[in-house]
Formats: sequence, structure tokens, C-alpha cells
Amino acid sequence: MDPDILIVGAGLFGLTMAERLANVCGKRVLIIDKRDHIGGNCYSEFDSATGIECHKYGAHLFHTSDEEVWQYVNRFTKFTPYIHKVYTTHDGEVYPLPINLGTINQFFHAAYTPDAARQLIAEQSASAPTQPTNLVEQGISLIGRPLFDAFIKNYTAKQWQTPAEELSPDIIKRLPVRYNYDNRYFNNTHEGLPLEGYEAWFQNMLDSCGDKVTVRLSTDYFTDPEIQTLRETGILTVYTGPIDQFYDYQFGELSWRSLDLVKEVLDVDDFQGCPVMNYADLEPKYTRIHEFKHFHPERTNDAYAPGSGKTVIVREYSKTWHRGDEPYYPVNTTEDRTKLAKYQELVARDGNIIFGGRLGEYAYFDMDKTIASALSAFADLQPKLSQLIES
Ligand code: FAD
Ligand code: UDP
Repeated sequence: MDPDILIVGAGLFGLTMAERLANVCGKRVLIIDKRDHIGGNCYSEFDSATGIECHKYGAHLFHTSDEEVWQYVNRFTKFTPYIHKVYTTHDGEVYPLPINLGTINQFFHAAYTPDAARQLIAEQSASAPTQPTNLVEQGISLIGRPLFDAFIKNYTAKQWQTPAEELSPDIIKRLPVRYNYDNRYFNNTHEGLPLEGYEAWFQNMLDSCGDKVTVRLSTDYFTDPEIQTLRETGILTVYTGPIDQFYDYQFGELSWRSLDLVKEVLDVDDFQGCPVMNYADLEPKYTRIHEFKHFHPERTNDAYAPGSGKTVIVREYSKTWHRGDEPYYPVNTTEDRTKLAKYQELVARDGNIIFGGRLGEYAYFDMDKTIASALSAFADLQPKLSQLIES
């Protein structure tokens, strides 16, 4: 195939762009990925020992309030009615998350009504500035100092290993705070998991493109000789790898968090009784344990049936990223934002390359935001597509 466009990365950004470019514009697209599978960090596989679907790069739960994105993803997969619930262990006790009236009453050994709890938290958060500028100020303004110290301070220290005063307030604004007993983890209109698994969803996206899209796996943009030749032609490129790597780290590395995901198959039916258990204290060192079985209560086959005697868990440890590690989370300190602005100046000068996704935009995007960003990049690109391909 002689492609019109090269896409680097078969994650959600790359797949969405490929699907739009092929199906709306009839373009021939080559997608490469250095990994040996499609789907980027959302990839899951069915564990060979147990048959349980495991999310290889950490648990991925789909949730969105964006109607355009919801309509779009439903073209390629059905979603289960799964509603995500998370619990946290602090000081030898298990509490519900996100912080809700159940958490507050259990923590303070009280029976506050919604209004009384609101009043309490208003008093405990009074010292926080009205315009929080970092994670600590934002956290205290949302839930007050005692709850912040118990549930956020040490978890955040383990997760980010960066002074919380240097972290963006947006990180903690991801979590709702509720003055009722609703402990849905997310606040979105739509939520669920792909019925047949993530790989089937992404394969359906590719299948919808027929022969317009070719995928080459285990192919690194920076080292593959054939891709080097293609790059020399000046082919229009969508790049979803790390932006700092693309420019050979010339302004220095952006800071990322990486993860160690330690998988274990256990000979028990149910290890923890819930999909995700967070660990709010400095010990144990891991931030959370995922137990994948609980993501699919609707599955009744042998792997999932009560009495299977097997389960799969993953302990998630956060670690500082060094070259060669997977970059998972952009840390996004003030210093990072300064470096990013310099890289973005180079992007603005590069006419035939589009940077997208979590790594390409250096943004803490959930799946829906990644898709929304790709749909928006496609809408910007479409009117000038022919000109860019011909130039
Ligand atoms: P990626 O999925 O990272 O894909 C980029 C691809 O580019 C990768 O496959 C990579 O191998 C490839 N690539 C990079 N460099 C090169 C190169 N040089 N040559 C070839 N290929 C290259 N979102 C949710 O909505 N819900 C969740 O529950 C959720 N949980 C998450 C948990 C974790 C631990 C993490 C890290 C993220 C989570 N997310 C979640 C976010 C979600 O993973 C992202 O929104 C999504 O994966 C971003 O897609 P992407 O295409 O931008 O990047
Ligand atoms: N967080 C926390 N305690 C928790 C859960 C979350 O302090 O039990 C903070 C932490 O800083 C984390 C952020 O809230 O990085 C966002 O949490 P979320 O669960 O959305 O993170 P993700 O699933 O993206 O890792």
C-alpha cells in the first residue's frame, strides 16, 4: 500500500484519526505501533490461565458526558451497564470512595445529615484559598484538612512522588465529592465496559475501514528503516508518541510517571470483593489493587462463575519515569509547562505533522477526552487535507 497518511501509535487517538480519514475522506492510512498489539494503553487480553479479561496497562473504565463521543464509540462496540465503584483502605479500615457521606460519617464516627456534613467541611476547609493554585489547596478546599490528610495526602505522595504543592489542582478535581451515599466513582452521563473487550472494540474500528487502513505492529517510528524512507518523503503524519522524544529531548525531558503493574493469579474465587481497592497510607507501597473479574458481573462463563476458584489481581506501583520506561502520566509541573510551550513552538512550525493524544499533547486525557481531541483534530485537518497530502 502506498499510504496518504502515516499514523504513529495505534492507541485511541491514532485509531480514531485513522477511522475518520479512511471512512470520511477515503484516504489510505498506514498505522504503526512499536508494541505488538493495537489499542495503546487501553489494550486488554484474556488471561490464558483463567480466561479473565485483564487490562494490561492498568484498569480502564469508559465514562463520558460527551454525546458526540458516546454516539461515536457506540458505532463500534456495545457497552455493559457496569458502574465503577472504588474503596480505599486507611489505617486498617475500608471506606467508600469518592469522598461521600458514607466516607465522612465513617471517618468521623458520626451520623451527619447532608447539610450538617456540608457545614463541617465548610469549617474544615475555611483556611483554603478561594482560587486554589495547586493540588493541596484544591484538596483542602474540597474536603477540608482531616479528610485530605487521611485519603489524599499519602496516596498522592505515592502516586506522584512530586511535592503536591507543585501539582495541578485539576488532578484532584477529577474526583467528585458528594453529600449523599452515592458512591459511583464517576459523575458522567454514560459509563460501561466494552461488551466483548477492548481489543474487539478497536478491531471493529479497523474492520470498518476495509483495506484503506493497514496496521504494522512492532514498528518503531524512530528506528524502522522502511519508516525512515517514508518519513523522507515528507508524508503527512499523525504522531501520538511522546512530544519530547519526537524533538530528541532538545529542551529536556518532560516529567512523566511510570508504573509497575504486578500481576498475580490467585486460587480464590474473590480476593477483595470489589474491582479496585485503593491504599491511602504510605504502606503498602502500591497505590491500588485491581481485581478484573469484578469488571464484568454480567459474564457467566466458567472463568467468571462463582466457584471458579481463580482470580487475577494486579498491584499498581507508581514510579519515576526514566528513558525506556512506559510514560503513563504527565506530571505537568510549572517547569514542564515551560518546556512544553517550547516544544509547541516547534510543532507550530512543522506543517505536515499533527501531534495528538496523551503523549503527543502531554495531557492527562481520559479515553473520552482522547477521542474528542482526535475528532476535533480531524475536523481541523479535513478542509486542508488534500493540500497537505499533495504538498
Ligand atoms: P496511548 O494509548 O498511549 O497510545 C499511544 C501509542 O503510541 C502506544 O501504543 C505506543 O506504543 C505508540 N507509540 C509511542 N511511540 C511510538 C513510536 N516511536 N513508534 C511507534 N509507536 C509508538 N481513561 C479512561 O477513560 N478511563 C480509565 O479508567 C483510564 N484508566 C487509565 C489508567 C492508566 C494507568 C492510564 C495510564 C491511563 C488511563 N486512562 C483511562 C487514559 C487512557 O489510557 C488514555 O486516554 C488513552 O489510552 C490515550 O490514548 P492515546 O492514543 O493518546 O495514547
Ligand atoms: N487520589 C487520592 N486518593 C485516592 C484516589 C485518588 O489522593 O484514593 C488523588 C490522586 O492524586 C490521584 C488523583 O486523585 O492521582 C486522581 O485519581 P484517579 O483515580 O482519577 O486517578 P487515575 O485513575 O487517573 O490514576
